[in-house]
Amino acid sequence: MSFDYDLFVIGGGSGGVRAARVAAAGGARVALAEEDRYGGTCVIRGCVPKKLMVFASEYSGMIEDGRAYGWDLDNKGFDWDHFKTKLNAELDRLEGVYRGLLKGSGVESFDARARLADPHTVELADGSRKTAKHILIATGGRPFVPDFPGAELAITSNEMFHLDKLPESILIVGGGYIASEFAGIMNGLGVKTTQYYRGEQILRGFDNEARGLVAEEMIQSGIKLHLGTNVAQMRREGDKIHVTATNGDENLFDQVMFATGRNPNADDLGLEALGVERGRGGEIKVDAYSQTGVPSIYAIGDVTDRVNLTPVAIREGMAFVETVFNGNPTSPDHDLIPTAIFTQPEMGTVGMSEEEAAAQETIEVYTASFKPMQQSFAGRAQKVLMKLIVSQASRKVLGCHIVAPGAGEMIQLAGIAVKMGATKEDFDRTVAVHPTMSEELVTMKSPVRTV
Ligand code: NDP
Repeated sequence: MSFDYDLFVIGGGSGGVRAARVAAAGGARVALAEEDRYGGTCVIRGCVPKKLMVFASEYSGMIEDGRAYGWDLDNKGFDWDHFKTKLNAELDRLEGVYRGLLKGSGVESFDARARLADPHTVELADGSRKTAKHILIATGGRPFVPDFPGAELAITSNEMFHLDKLPESILIVGGGYIASEFAGIMNGLGVKTTQYYRGEQILRGFDNEARGLVAEEMIQSGIKLHLGTNVAQMRREGDKIHVTATNGDENLFDQVMFATGRNPNADDLGLEALGVERGRGGEIKVDAYSQTGVPSIYAIGDVTDRVNLTPVAIREGMAFVETVFNGNPTSPDHDLIPTAIFTQPEMGTVGMSEEEAAAQETIEVYTASFKPMQQSFAGRAQKVLMKLIVSQASRKVLGCHIVAPGAGEMIQLAGIAVKMGATKEDFDRTVAVHPTMSEELVTMKSPVRTV
């Protein structure tokens, strides 16, 4: 049977675009459909604009530090319109780069929503049908807002980049990556920022000591963090939003942003009729090779809800191409993924938390906590943390957790050593780079505890 294409990709985000390009570069006939903007969540409404907003928000502190170093600096405030115009231009440029990459590698793209008509056929929004030997679903995810009275007044991270003006006050709900990152951004931009998290401590799942320090420093920098607190109801009051919290507190905010998790974009794709199985959270179920129960249909990235990070989706896309087009079955490696949370202070982490590791074996915990030179000179009190979790039996470093300016950059490099199976002694025989913060990673002599 002959098909229009060897591969049809649904979704033009990080994972889909990479898979399409790599398959086409290997000679496959490839098409891709995207209903929204090319680049997906990461480029258009996630990592990229978020990081640019983190940079923007950090200048307030830097101006103060600069003054402490002797610079004569005047801070006349932040111009949201100026930033937003530049941000939009940058996103347009990046979207153009993504479109260009697809075109340049010979992928035919359709600016349309697509759904599955049968295991080898995709139907586009205009009713036209395309057949393909393999279909790859890479449709990502979208923010989820729980149902409660007044939920329609909430915005999500999607809207944060398009606000007409910066609010004077904001409530951020949630304690995950997105909520905690935006709390830092808004606070740094001068917005009165309150964060509600229903649990005991933000950033659940990460090392307790590390997330404790992040939370402490966020509070120090002016964020009103309320733990064990959720929104009970909201209503409009003039141009403000009146929020009643589960603890009975009542407050007015200009904006309320919910960052309470994301749902996979797998509805209305025609999956049910074809028998493609979905999990309890709506994610598409796939095997270790990203294949669904229907042999011609594969799925990668956030829509499969494995590890929802851009570089992971990209790897899943490349492993898919290797498996399906290069005859080399490759399963994406989800072990020891380094990651950064762009809170202020930033956190970088790889491997197991102290709590996870201690539940498995006897571990030695090494920590160094101090005030870094640059900020300390300026009179800023923020503390940093360097932490290694070491297996007592094998001496391997099982986890590395860093809370510090630039922690994301540091953990990328420490991640290589941890992924290679480095032992504490390997760290120790590496000469320190002085004077830096990360030198502490190779100079920690005795464990602070053995558990
Ligand atoms: P997360 O799953 O990280 O966090 C969701 C948060 O919302 C949790 O604190 C959760 O609480 C809370 N929550 C869930 N449901 C409710 C509810 N009904 N009421 C109140 N609170 C609720 O999701 P995010 O949206 O922050 O991020 C999504 C994913 O995007 C992340 O998991 C990550 O993979 C990725 N991401 C990565 C970034 C990075 O690499 N720097 C940056 C941004 C996103 P509880 O803990 O109690 O469940």
